[in-house]
Amino acid sequence: MLWDYEQPVAIRFGNGRVREIKDVAADLGLTEGGLLVTSDHFVHDGTAARLVKESDGALAEVFSAFSPNPDVTEVDAAAAIIREKHLRFVVAMGGGSAMDLAKAAASIALTNDSIADYHGTGKPMPLDHLPLIAVPTTAGTGSEVTCVSVLTNRALGKKAPIVSDGFFPSVAIIDPELTYSVPPHVTASCGMDVLSQAIEGYWSKGHQPICDACAIHAAPLVFKYLPIAVAEPDNAEARQKMCEASVIAGLAFTLPKTTSSHACSFPLTNIHGIPHGEACGLTLDWFARINADAQHGRVQEFARAIGFDDVDAMADAIHDLKVKTGLRTGLKDLQLTESQIDDLVRISRHPNLYNNPVEITDDMLRDMYEHLAATD
Ligand code: NAD
Repeated sequence: MLWDYEQPVAIRFGNGRVREIKDVAADLGLTEGGLLVTSDHFVHDGTAARLVKESDGALAEVFSAFSPNPDVTEVDAAAAIIREKHLRFVVAMGGGSAMDLAKAAASIALTNDSIADYHGTGKPMPLDHLPLIAVPTTAGTGSEVTCVSVLTNRALGKKAPIVSDGFFPSVAIIDPELTYSVPPHVTASCGMDVLSQAIEGYWSKGHQPICDACAIHAAPLVFKYLPIAVAEPDNAEARQKMCEASVIAGLAFTLPKTTSSHACSFPLTNIHGIPHGEACGLTLDWFARINADAQHGRVQEFARAIGFDDVDAMADAIHDLKVKTGLRTGLKDLQLTESQIDDLVRISRHPNLYNNPVEITDDMLRDMYEHLAATD
């Protein structure tokens, strides 16, 4: 077996460490010209203004004009500000949406192009980029340590990742206290993303030993701490452990890449508006049962390594976790028509599907979506 490992992102983890942004920037030689990309939540609660003030001039601008599942036009808008104001670095403080927008903007700003030219077109991203400091505020995507930016082109009805070595942040600052304000349903959905990344990173065709170890570390933390974080948003231990699971699951999948559940999540989010992590979790137990005996027993070994008797028991536990945290277990409320199911099958045929250890046919996808369409 041949494998490579690389992890170029410096990680600073712990409560209160968001206050280190200015020092981290200074260590990178950056004392002015920073763009803070952050969601409206942190503008309204005053955190953005406080960080700008405390930065002693290092942060010059704030950009928050973007939506969850950010659109290519919003990336172009952020890049235009970077160009106009001659900004020199970017700080992304938010969920995956803020971090992914910032990664793409920090690269495309050094060109005169639109990010749309590189989104799902196969055109490689230029590697040049402004330095990026990533500060996640959800325990979810792991985007702070990945080279992936997931963007949406609403005009074309397309959601897809762009992968580029230029997207690795220079530094990730993970401050669990920033996640206390995440509402319960977002906490649940983001946590299910963590679990999907760990499990999919493990069974991906691109699996490798270091990422396996990360997956085995991260997954049990989600089973144990996600229900607590959902029920008790201020539970410091649960929030901290979910942040640990999130960053380590990010390391587990960024090189192997995700697989079937992520492939299916894209149309579920794009067409039906189901939040990203909830959409991934919707099919995770189904694919676990399909992949149970793949890779000469590796998937069964994973289930046992994280404390289950076998993959069936792990799949049952994924289902129970969704019920316990208020996430969807079916699509019955959407009253899907046959033609909507056809669309889900067709659009799920995304490149990530080909990383799945078992070949997934259209008939298998149709069986799954018909089952989900009939399930509450
Ligand atoms: P998000 O960033 O879309 O945030 C969800 C909502 O929660 C938003 O309204 C946001 O403003 C709010 N929010 C975020 N942090 C908050 C806080 N601390 N307090 C209160 N509200 C807060 O959600 P997400 O799940 O973190 O990111 C999802 C996006 O990331 C999707 O586009 C998904 O495809 C992408 N993603 C990227 C990667 C990657 O490696 N780049 C991996 C997985 C998913």
